Amino acid sequence: MIEALYYDKLSEGIVKCLLCPHSCVIAPGKTGICRARKNIDSVLYAINYGECVSLSMDPIEKKPLNHFYPGSQILSTASNSCNLACPFCQNAKISQSNAPTQYIAPEELIDMAVRKKSIGIAYTYTEPFTWYEYVLDTARLAHKQGLKNVIVTNGMINEKPLIELLPYIDAANIDLKSMDAAFYKNILHGELEQVLNTIRITKKHWHIEITNLIVPNYNDSIELLTQLVDFVASIGIDTPLHFSRYFPHYKVVVPHTPIETLKEAYRIGKEKLHYVYIGNVDLNNVDLNLEL
Ligand code: SF4
Repeated sequence: MIEALYYDKLSEGIVKCLLCPHSCVIAPGKTGICRARKNIDSVLYAINYGECVSLSMDPIEKKPLNHFYPGSQILSTASNSCNLACPFCQNAKISQSNAPTQYIAPEELIDMAVRKKSIGIAYTYTEPFTWYEYVLDTARLAHKQGLKNVIVTNGMINEKPLIELLPYIDAANIDLKSMDAAFYKNILHGELEQVLNTIRITKKHWHIEITNLIVPNYNDSIELLTQLVDFVASIGIDTPLHFSRYFPHYKVVVPHTPIETLKEAYRIGKEKLHYVYIGNVDLNNVDLNLEL
């Protein structure tokens, strides 16, 4: 672990984390909401620095990124933390629990990427912004080796740390879970406006694709899907949008997203956007027939 960037020391040994909109006020011995930052003797530490919970070579399309080095493979890794509490999290086993990790130094990860002929490193599966110091250090070194850096994120980060990271990331898939601020606040424990701000800022610097996981009864109304498409169109009609199929996971047991809902979302998207995709569907068993 290393001392965290972006925090303030308050009185009586308490610290305030300034990395994400939660602004956790953390007493000595305690951790923030993401479980990744701990107050030890009045110093905030990134306790997940270099602690990798997963490591594999993935097709870039799995991120999903369909317009960034298509057909390439990328070394993908993650920490075991997240700053949202999505009850339908599709990766809860590693994002919402202290799953076992293995320490991999930034230099070691980069060596591995070079040896495996990866186009770079993807910080993915959980929330890379709560792995901030490690992502920043590794991404800087990776660029020096000519590697690309990819982030797959929920977009929940404050502007100042985001701006420091901008020069070192090349592409991102940002999860936009809904355009309903109350849904973000009450169900996900996040802030919609901050996510939109992250998307607007990063679109000017990185290759951006957006993913929306459609969960029946939570975010699948025509009105919300239309608002989401309108927002994506507002940042650029060339921005790829992925509608992803939900399957019951973690605390949500409603049945998986009907194919008809995905087709309707696709239709709404194609009215305004050039690139709309449907993901997490077994095309061997489902005929999407998406021609419009
Ligand atoms: S990064 Fe973690 S500790 Fe810091 S404010 Fe966000 S949830 Fe809290």
